[in-house]
Amino acid sequence: MKPFIPQLVYFEPNALEYPLGKQLWQKFTDMGLEIRKTTSHNQVRNIPGDNELEKYRVAKSTLVVGIRKTLKFDTSKPSAEYAIPLATGCMGHCHYCYLQTTLGSKPYIRTYVNLEEIFNQAQKYISEREPDITRFEAACTSDIVGIDHLTHSLKKTIEFIGKTNLGRLRFVTKYHHVDHLLDAEHNGHTRFRFSINSKYVIKNFEAGTSPLEQRIQAAKKIAQAKYPLGFIIAPIYIHENWQEEYTDLIKKLSDALAPISVPDLTFELIQHRYTKPAKKVIQERYPNSKLEMNEEDRKYKWGRYGIGKYVYPDDEANAIKDLMQLNIKKYFPQAKVEYFT
Ligand code: SF4
Repeated sequence: MKPFIPQLVYFEPNALEYPLGKQLWQKFTDMGLEIRKTTSHNQVRNIPGDNELEKYRVAKSTLVVGIRKTLKFDTSKPSAEYAIPLATGCMGHCHYCYLQTTLGSKPYIRTYVNLEEIFNQAQKYISEREPDITRFEAACTSDIVGIDHLTHSLKKTIEFIGKTNLGRLRFVTKYHHVDHLLDAEHNGHTRFRFSINSKYVIKNFEAGTSPLEQRIQAAKKIAQAKYPLGFIIAPIYIHENWQEEYTDLIKKLSDALAPISVPDLTFELIQHRYTKPAKKVIQERYPNSKLEMNEEDRKYKWGRYGIGKYVYPDDEANAIKDLMQLNIKKYFPQAKVEYFT
């Protein structure tokens, strides 16, 4: 899988006042990419395409270079105190991705060049919470690793957090383009998580992301670079031979990681769930998807703002939990496991 190259690039004019903005302008000019100007990263108009579906596809490979004006970070409970805003949007085409609903009509990828301002704000949050640790999540609104070979803003953030005493960083990725991050001075303050899944799920629902083998090889490199490592297995989805495939997945991971020491390994397990609005968007954007979302096969769970989600009924949810926990206990007895429904 080749690293992401945008098909089209937009710049907010003010982005050129920042060193990273200037560098990216030069880089994309040298690469011969089509560059356009936009007044605001929130209002990118004229994305090419004859219909909504085509426009969506082009938007997913459009990069907008802008300035993050809102420096109030969103909260990201329970796994982190704050979401650090480095980018928004992703080039992947995972059918189940929640960004489809949260980003609505703006599925293009935005990268923010005012890193110093973002870091100053992060430092303020860290200082406010002293002597407690402050955790930042960098993948709430994007797969930041997937674009970082172009911007290196994640690398700079890892090094910034590495220098703080009380800051911690975490993110998750489905991309394997990590080589430039291996020599970052992380100081053990960044937890690098890889999202992995069964062969069936990756093949059918995760178009435009790195193959499993490459994700696992990248995880090995990350562990060898002494980053704290974790895996997210999500969404755990019931399909033909799901027990065998998820068992194979954990075994494969164990074989790959066996030669190296991985202290403090974590697993986060999340069963497949969906909301009615998400189902509608998925069916519009991926009309041929095999993703099964039949309300009669699910259990309704009340959610915030009146938008409940459809989860697996208890017997299936328990079967998922038992299988995953059994396998992880067998192959990774020391790992910390968290399960979310
Ligand atoms: S890689 Fe992650 S952020 Fe990107 S589309 Fe897939 S699930 Fe969404």
